[in-house]
Amino acid sequence: MQKQCGKCKELKFVEEFYKDRSDKTGKRFCSTCKQCQASYSKEYRLQNLEKVKAGRKAYYETNKDLVLDRLKQSYEKHKNKRLEKQKQWVSDNKDTYLAYQELYRSNNKDRFVKYYANHYQANKESYAKYYQEKRQASPTFRLIESLRTRQGKVLKGKISTTKGLGCDKEFLKDYIAAQWTEGMSWDNYGHGKGKWVLDHRLPLDSHEKTEGGDWDASSPYNQKLVHYTNLQPLWFEDNARKSNKIVAPD
Ligand SMILES: [Zn+2]
Repeated sequence: MQKQCGKCKELKFVEEFYKDRSDKTGKRFCSTCKQCQASYSKEYRLQNLEKVKAGRKAYYETNKDLVLDRLKQSYEKHKNKRLEKQKQWVSDNKDTYLAYQELYRSNNKDRFVKYYANHYQANKESYAKYYQEKRQASPTFRLIESLRTRQGKVLKGKISTTKGLGCDKEFLKDYIAAQWTEGMSWDNYGHGKGKWVLDHRLPLDSHEKTEGGDWDASSPYNQKLVHYTNLQPLWFEDNARKSNKIVAPD
């Protein structure tokens, strides 16, 4: 069904007209098309900026709760969609996003450092508790944590722990468990008598160094050192004996 707009005189489909809200039957359409109405309102707003602003403000003042409620509802309603959109944008513009983040961080470095320090101080106990719980609940987490700590000192960020492994965390967990000897389980994983630890078959300390004395990331031998195939479970006491041998070869 088509209808002529009283303003632009164009013949348009009725979908391009708003329903006439004063009509109780709900069947009548406005006499001017949506487009003409929009450009009229825009024109009106531009010519009556102050008036519109004052009107909006007055409306807000008398209907504060309603306005805020509507805002909140609309926010909630479109939340997922918006998050989806943001995510999509980030993955489409990864470089821009990372660069922006980096810039923002470096421009606000002091604020970040202060914020994290304060946050940590104020939540020290819950951090410790969270960490403890996570360690207990997840052997995978403990394995990776222990590797990070041990390798961190030697590798000094030259290569990431998980990258060097050459397998994912779950695989590592199963790989280690498959090598358990009698009596080993996740319950006695740790330091101390009657417990077992994660051991590097070829010791990490034997790594090849660059001329500067750092970890040589290009050395195939070093790559073998951090690879999962160089890891095994070893009784704590055997491991202590082994490292003593390395530190004091005589
Ligand atoms: Zn029109």
